[in-house]
Amino acid sequence: MSSTVELSTPLAEIPKLAARERSALEKAGFVTAGDVLTHFPKRYEDRRQFDRFPSEASMTPVCIHGRVTDTSLRRFGRRKQFFEATLEEISDDAFSHPVVCRWFNMPWIHKIIAADQELVVFGKPKQSGKRLVIDHPEFEIVDPESEEASIHLRRITPVYRLGSGVSQRPLRTLLHRLLEELDPESVPDLLPAPPETGGAGEAAAEGSGNFRYAHLQQIHFPEDFDALKAARRYFAFEEFFSLQINVARRRREYLSRPGKAHSDGAVLLTQWFQQLPFELTDAQKHVIKEIRADLKSNRPMNRLLQGDVGSGKTAVALAAMLIVVEAGYQCALMAPTQILAEQHFLTLQRQLAGLDVRISLRTSAKQQDDFLELEGAPQIVVGTHALIHDNVAFQELGLVVIDEQHKFGVAQRGRLIEEGRVPDVLVMTATPIPRTLTMTVYGDLDVSILDELPPGRGTVITAVRPASKTVDAARFVRDHLAQGRQAYIVYPLIEDSETLKLKSATVEHERWVPRFPDHEVGLLHGRLRPDEKDAVMTRFRSGEIQVLVCTTVIEVGVDVPNANIMLIYNAERFGLAQLHQLRGRIGRGAHKSYCILMADMKKGSAEALAKLQVLEDTTDGFEIAEADLELRGPGDVLGTAQSGLPDLKLGDLVTDTALVKEARDLARRILEEDPELAAPEHEALRALSVKSREALVT
Ligand code: ADP
Ligand code: MG
Repeated sequence: MSSTVELSTPLAEIPKLAARERSALEKAGFVTAGDVLTHFPKRYEDRRQFDRFPSEASMTPVCIHGRVTDTSLRRFGRRKQFFEATLEEISDDAFSHPVVCRWFNMPWIHKIIAADQELVVFGKPKQSGKRLVIDHPEFEIVDPESEEASIHLRRITPVYRLGSGVSQRPLRTLLHRLLEELDPESVPDLLPAPPETGGAGEAAAEGSGNFRYAHLQQIHFPEDFDALKAARRYFAFEEFFSLQINVARRRREYLSRPGKAHSDGAVLLTQWFQQLPFELTDAQKHVIKEIRADLKSNRPMNRLLQGDVGSGKTAVALAAMLIVVEAGYQCALMAPTQILAEQHFLTLQRQLAGLDVRISLRTSAKQQDDFLELEGAPQIVVGTHALIHDNVAFQELGLVVIDEQHKFGVAQRGRLIEEGRVPDVLVMTATPIPRTLTMTVYGDLDVSILDELPPGRGTVITAVRPASKTVDAARFVRDHLAQGRQAYIVYPLIEDSETLKLKSATVEHERWVPRFPDHEVGLLHGRLRPDEKDAVMTRFRSGEIQVLVCTTVIEVGVDVPNANIMLIYNAERFGLAQLHQLRGRIGRGAHKSYCILMADMKKGSAEALAKLQVLEDTTDGFEIAEADLELRGPGDVLGTAQSGLPDLKLGDLVTDTALVKEARDLARRILEEDPELAAPEHEALRALSVKSREALVT
C-alpha cells in the first residue's frame, strides 16, 4: 500500500485512472480526489447477510442476492417492451420462491443481464398475479470469484448517487483504491475536539491519532454499523460546525462595529403605557426589557423577535421605537406589504394619539424624501421594505424594525446592515422557525420569544371538511354573519387556471355574492391596485363589508378582531405553516372562532390530508413548524431562494438539534480564544470558513 493520493490531487494525476472514467467523473463535477472522497454514500447494503427472498409484497425494499435463471424481452402495447429476469436464491437450503425483476422501456437492459449471472437487487417486491415482482430495481451484477469481490460483497457496501456516465461498481472500486492510497497527513483534523462518538471508527481513530482520516474510511467502507454511525455523526458535525463558525464570525463582526447607545429615557414609554387599552403580557414586558438593555448598550442591537400570530409583536416594536425616538433618533418600521404597512400606521396613530411623536406613512417613492429634511421630520417612518431600496434619506436612523422577516430575503437584512452607519435592528417573525434553523440561518441574531398570547382571546376551532360541502359551509357562515360577525373565504390563486383547476378568488367571488343576499361580499387579491386594496381593506375593517373573498394576501398581520370565521379552499395545497398563518387572522376577538379547511378529498394525497389533521389537533405554532419541517424539508419552510441554507450532505436540520447546538458552542468557544483563526492549528479551519462562507447567501 502506498500513500500517493492527497485530497487536493487532481483527477488527472491519480495513477491508473482510465481516461474515460476520468472524463465521466469530471462531467459529473468532480475535480479532485477529495471531491470524490467526500461524495458520501446515499445508502448502504448489508451484504454480509442478504435478506431472504421475500414470500410476499412489502412496503420496504429488500436487498437480495440471487442467480438469474431466465430472461425474456416482451412486448406490450404497440411499440413498448419490457425486460424480465427471473432470480432464484443461491443457497441450497432455500425453499424460496423466485423473484422476477422487470424493466419497462429500457431496451438496453437485455444486453446487460443474462442467465447464470449473479445479481444483487434492491427494491420493493409486489404481487403480480401469482408472481412476486420488483419493478425497476437497483441492481448490480456481481462475481464472487473476481479479484474485486471483497470490495463489493461480504461487507456493508456503500451505494452512491451517480452522475450520468458514472457507474456504481467502478466508482466504488475507485473509492476503495483512493482510500487505500490516501495520505493520512493530507486529511488533517479540522475539529479540535471531536464530539463523543464511539464505535470501531473511534478506536481506529485513536490508534492513528487522526479522526478525520479514520472516519473517512469508515463512512465509505464501515467495519460495522456503530463505526458508520460514528462517522456520519462526525461529518454531520463538521458540516454544522463550518456553518456555525461563519455565523459566529459574522456575529463578531457585527458586534465589533460601533452602535449607538440610546439613553434610557422612559417618558414616552410611560405615557404610552398609561393610555394603552390593555395590560402587556408578561412575555411582552420581558422582551421589552431585553430590548431596552440592548438599546442602552453601545453595541448594535441585532435581535430576532419570534412570536406566534397574535402574540402582540407590534406593541413590543412600538416600545422599542419610543425609546429610540426619545433619544433623538428616527425609526423605520418595514412591513412586507402595503396593506400591512398601512395597518401598522393606523395602529401606531391610534396608540400614540396624544403623544408628541411624529409618524409618517411612506406609501410610494414619489412622496419624496424632502419631507424628511424639514423641521418636524417624522420620527417614525412606516413603509414596505422598499424603504431600504429607495435609500430614504434618514437624518439619524437609530432603529430599523423589520416585520415578518420570513417574507424578506436574509440577504436584505445583510444589505441593510452593510449600508453606512449601523442602526439597531429588530427583526420580527410570526413563522415559528424551528430552533435548528434559527441557529443556522439567524444564528448571528439574539433571539427573544413571545411565548404567550394576550388573555381574553377566543379559541379557534379547526376542522377539515370536504370542499363539496360548500352549501353547509355557507349556512354556517350566514349564521355567524347574522350575529354580527365577519368572515374570510380564502382561495390560493386569483385567476382560473386550466392546468391547476384550482378555484380562484375572482370567479368564486361571483358565486359567493348570491349566497349572502343580506350581506356585502368583498374581493381582495394581489393583482388589485394598491388603492383598490386599501379601499376594500378599510371597508372590511370598518364592518361595511362582512365577507372577504381573498387570496393569501391576507396571510400576514391583518388584524380585524370581529372576523371569526375563515374558510380555506384547496387547503391540501398549502403548507402547514402557511395555513397556521392564515388561521392567525381569526381568534383575535373575544368570540369563538372557526377555521374550516375545505379540502379536495379526491385530489389531495392521503399524506396531504393527514397533515391537515395536525392543525385540527394543535394551535401551537412551534409544534406545527416542526411538523412542517418534517413534511417539507428546511428549504421549503423558509423558501429556498431566501433561506441561505447550504446543501447539507449529512447533517439533518430536523433531527440533529443537539449536534447543531454543540457545533455552535464549539465555534463560539474557538472564536473567543482565536477571533482571527490565526493559530497554526486553526489553519484548516480558516480555509473551511472561507469556503463555506461562499456557500452562504447572507
Ligand atoms: P402579531 O404578533 O401577530 O403581530 P399584533 O401585534 O398584531 O400581533 O397584535 C394582535 C392584536 O392583539 C392586536 O389587536 C393588538 O392590539 C392586540 N394586543 C397586543 N398585545 C396585547 C395585550 N397584551 N393584551 C391584549 N391585546 C393585545
Ligand atoms: Mg404582526
